[in-house]
Amino acid sequence: METKLKIAIQKSGRLNEDSIKILKEAGIEFNNGLNKLKADAINFPLEVFFLRDDDIPQYVEDGVADIGIVGENVLEEKSKKVKIQNKLGFGKCRLSIAIEKNQKYKGVLDLKGKRIATSYPTILAKYLKKNKITAEIHEISGSVEIAPSIGLADAICDLVSSGSTLFANGLKEAEVIFKSEAVLISNSKLDKAKQKTLDQLLFRINAVKKAKNNKYILLNAPNNKLDAICKVLPGMKSTTIVPLAEKGWSSVHSVVNENDFWDIIEQLKENGAQGILVVPIEKMIL
Ligand code: ATP
Ligand code: MG
Repeated sequence: METKLKIAIQKSGRLNEDSIKILKEAGIEFNNGLNKLKADAINFPLEVFFLRDDDIPQYVEDGVADIGIVGENVLEEKSKKVKIQNKLGFGKCRLSIAIEKNQKYKGVLDLKGKRIATSYPTILAKYLKKNKITAEIHEISGSVEIAPSIGLADAICDLVSSGSTLFANGLKEAEVIFKSEAVLISNSKLDKAKQKTLDQLLFRINAVKKAKNNKYILLNAPNNKLDAICKVLPGMKSTTIVPLAEKGWSSVHSVVNENDFWDIIEQLKENGAQGILVVPIEKMIL
């Protein structure tokens, strides 16, 4: 019987849905046990454990799970011996120090002697030490953002994505001390069979990630503008030109990276491109 790769993902919370989604996009299907504590993939040798995110690094270090999906913030705080295999592009957030909105703030020296409430004492202590700041760290496990208003602390150090929670609690961001996204981690000593399954999974995840960062573009162009249009598009190798039924016109197909996308569209229009279609790509295997 083939050995299954065991993956730990968050049971409920911000990373749960996207973790399941990336596995599904990688073509992995589950029996209908996704709301239990364990689920089996039906078409890939994978077993899923649903856990609290804080526990995932420890489980992966111990080999109870072979791999896991967790925020870099949790990994950095727990400093366990695991390998980071891949950044996954979701769960993006930052760990920031925030103070009350009406407080003056000129720089990190203003944190001297302050009481800072956080669930991330290790990362915060490291940051304060690096900046030679002595401050008091109050470790609390949740509802960190209300600490200043109830007089428990002068500042907080917590995860922020849009900043709306800080704003709603009368706080403002003073320093970003760590940037994070979800990562795929693995046990440092996987046996050969499990390593092979992990390589297959990573191959699929990379194909999905790459596709997400790229768009397929189709457009019509007059033949006398083809040279100019091809210069705008990245790499001749990925550009296909097909003559259209209408004389003097061609259809041009290419793949464009999301970061350059709007820039390229503008230049294509300037060079006489018409009927531009942009199509999402599901997977890219190069
Ligand atoms: P658990 O019950 O599993 O311990 P939790 O309450 O500790 O869950 P969540 O709030 O669900 O954790 O966040 C999980 C992860 O999502 C965080 O560790 C972080 O990596 C990421 N994340 C992304 N944006 C944010 C945000 N704005 N606030 C908090 N976490 C965020
Ligand atoms: Mg947690």
